[in-house]
Amino acid sequence: MTYSDLAYEALENLKTLQESFRKDYHIDDYSHWFYNQSTELLRLYNASEEAYFKYIPVGTYSKSSKTWMWAWDNEDSVEQSKYDTLVLQHYGVDNDFEKLSNGYFDSDECDGWKFTALAHQFLGGIGGYKVTSDHLEIYFLIMEKKELHEVKAIEAKLIECEVHGEIRRAFICQHLNREVKTGFEEAFPTYRGMVLEEDDDFQAWCDECEKIRIQHDGWSDELMEFAEIKLVCERCYFEIKEFNTEEE
Ligand SMILES: [Zn+2]
Ligand SMILES: [Zn+2]
Repeated sequence: MTYSDLAYEALENLKTLQESFRKDYHIDDYSHWFYNQSTELLRLYNASEEAYFKYIPVGTYSKSSKTWMWAWDNEDSVEQSKYDTLVLQHYGVDNDFEKLSNGYFDSDECDGWKFTALAHQFLGGIGGYKVTSDHLEIYFLIMEKKELHEVKAIEAKLIECEVHGEIRRAFICQHLNREVKTGFEEAFPTYRGMVLEEDDDFQAWCDECEKIRIQHDGWSDELMEFAEIKLVCERCYFEIKEFNTEEE
C-alpha cells in the first residue's frame, strides 16, 4: 500500500467516525476549549455545560512556517502519551513513508487531519479534535470521555510547583534534598513519566528513615514523626532521586 492509499483510507474512516463523535458527544455545542498537558485532558465547555476527554497529542501545524511537527518530536509537549504515536514513526521507517518517519517537515493545512486519521488507524479512539492557538493548529486524538468524578480524581493528584508548574505530586521524607546525599529508598522502582495505578504514588525516604522502618517493621507513628513526609512535584522528585543515586 502506498502512503497516499493509506492516508486516504484513514481519512475516510475518520470522516465517518467524526460524524458520530460530534453527534454523540454534542461536540459542536461547546465553543471553548482548554487542554491540560499534565492530565492529558481536553475540556470542552460553554456557559452551562462541559465535557472532558482523554487525549493523545498527535502534532502541530504552524501556519506561519507551514511546517508540521509530530508530538513525539516536540519537546514542549510533556504528555507521556505522545510516545504512543511513535508506532506511526516506526511504521514510517519500515515502509519508507517520510511523513511518518520524520518528526518535523514542510507541510500544508490538509496534513493535520490526515495525520490524526492515521493516528486513529493505529491507536484507536473516538474522534479527532483541532484547536487553534495563535499561528498553531494543535491536533488531538480523542481516546475517551471522562466523567467529572474521574477528572477530580486525576486532578487531586496534581501539585502546583513554583518551578515546574502544575504536575503530579510525589511524597518524600523531610531529609531528602538536593545538597547533601542521604540515600534514596522508594516504595517501588520508578522512572520519569511512569504511569501509576490509581492507588499508587511516588514515595521516597532517606537511609535514616529506612533504618527505623526496618527496626519498627513498618511505618510506626514514631517514624512518621521523624520522617515528616512532605509533598513535592514529580519532576522535583526525580531531580532529588538522580542527585541521591548518581555515582560519584
Ligand atoms: Zn528521612
Ligand atoms: Zn517541581
